[in-house]
Amino acid sequence: MDDCIFCKIARHELPAEIVYEDAAFIAFLDINPVNPGHTLVIPKEHHANLLEEPEETLRDFLPVIQHVARAVEQATQADGLNVTFNIKPAAGQVIFHTHAHIIPRHADDGLRHWPGKPYATQEDARKLADAIRERMNE
Ligand SMILES: [Zn+2]
Repeated sequence: MDDCIFCKIARHELPAEIVYEDAAFIAFLDINPVNPGHTLVIPKEHHANLLEEPEETLRDFLPVIQHVARAVEQATQADGLNVTFNIKPAAGQVIFHTHAHIIPRHADDGLRHWPGKPYATQEDARKLADAIRERMNE
C-alpha cells in the first residue's frame, strides 16, 4: 500500500534500523521501544493484521520470528521476551500492517504483567468455550 509506513520500510523508502531481511520478511527496531531492542518483524506483503494473513505466509513467519527473537534476547541480555501481535485498535494496533512485537524483558524493568480477570462462575467460562468451539468448525 502506498501510504503504509511499514510497506515503505519494506521497500527501503523510509529509514529504519533493519536487523534482518529476506525475500518475504523484514525486522527492524521499533522507534518507540517498550525496552531497548524492541523489534518488529513484518511480512513484506501488506495485510492489515494477523487474521488477514495467508496461511502460507504464516508458515514461514514463525521461524523468522523465532530467529529474530533469539538474536534480540542475546543482544539485549534479556531475562525474557514478550512476543505479541496487536490486532485492531482495541488491542493497541496503530499501524495496520501485520507486525510481531519482540519485546526484551528484564527482571527489574518495572513493567507489570496484565492483571487476570477470573470468570465469575464456571458456567460463564463453559458458555464462552462453547461459543469458541462452535466457531472452530466454520
Ligand atoms: Zn503495509
